[in-house]
Amino acid sequence: MPELRQNFFTKEWVIIATERARRPEDLATRRPAHQTPPFVETCPFCPGHENQTPPEISRHPVNHAEPWEVRVIPNKFAALASDLQPTRSLQHLRRRIEGFGFHEVIVDSPDHSACMALLSDAQVARILTVFKDRYNTLCADHRISHVTIFKNHGSDAGASLQHPHSQIIATPVIPSQVRHRLHEALRHYDEVGECMFCHMVEGEVEDQTRVVIKSEMFVAMEVFASATPFATHVFPLRHMSSFGEITPAEISDLARVLRSLLAKIYVGLGNPDLNFTVRSGPADYMGARHFHWYVSVIPRLTRVAGFELGSGMFINTVLPEAAAEFLRKVATEKAAGAAAG
Ligand SMILES: [Zn+2]
Ligand SMILES: [Zn+2]
Repeated sequence: MPELRQNFFTKEWVIIATERARRPEDLATRRPAHQTPPFVETCPFCPGHENQTPPEISRHPVNHAEPWEVRVIPNKFAALASDLQPTRSLQHLRRRIEGFGFHEVIVDSPDHSACMALLSDAQVARILTVFKDRYNTLCADHRISHVTIFKNHGSDAGASLQHPHSQIIATPVIPSQVRHRLHEALRHYDEVGECMFCHMVEGEVEDQTRVVIKSEMFVAMEVFASATPFATHVFPLRHMSSFGEITPAEISDLARVLRSLLAKIYVGLGNPDLNFTVRSGPADYMGARHFHWYVSVIPRLTRVAGFELGSGMFINTVLPEAAAEFLRKVATEKAAGAAAG
């Protein structure tokens, strides 16, 4: 029987089409096996090619005498320009803001072949530490309203360069998707007197059927009203509205959970293209009681078609409970490097 489910955060409905249901493993990417080399002569992100990118913003380690492990640079093809001002104009009904903002690239590793699922937990923690530093720096600019951290892995997910990297875009407005969640979160706080994300996470941890990984500080779980197969959210168990509030101990714990989740997807679903996003409150939301940040991981296993584009309502052919059970069972020893430091 098909079923309609409502997203608790957005109140959007999705169709879970169980009569068209596919086993999770049927969606696995049949990617032809080929070895990615650790260094590519023509890649601008590989070590030794630093002069092919715009001047570095920051790096880890800071000491230039040591080789870099994580590097931050401006995006050469930036969507927004940091040398403009967010000047607004309104002409009849046409509202505009000059294209001010920041668009940065974080090179995840000097190794061209090391996608995040294959990195060590320690390297993922270094990347998350750099995320936090850049996040807080960009949020401190009073012209910035929101900062989005994301990764496009694979060409179907929008990646144009194969070398593993993440991106940050800081905008002078709050994106409407975030604003919508903020409104629902505020309404929930007003009605119930607690954070709607904490409320939902508590129920899911107790129920367990959609939980993939639970650590001391984080939980990774399939979304109850998931719009697409294997959409997985990672929530901090402690209430925090802004990613900028994460502590070093939480960064280490999140690195383990996120890397392990990505390795399960890599091994279980055959290294699919995917996006992940750090969904945090607006730039000035430190300490807010009604919003809660999380990481959203979306494997790109199916294509958006006419019904989705025309209605905004998605049809998901994999039960979230079946996806969670499948991912829980995936052993990640096959992910090379997963056991390393
Ligand atoms: Zn490279
Ligand atoms: Zn909360």
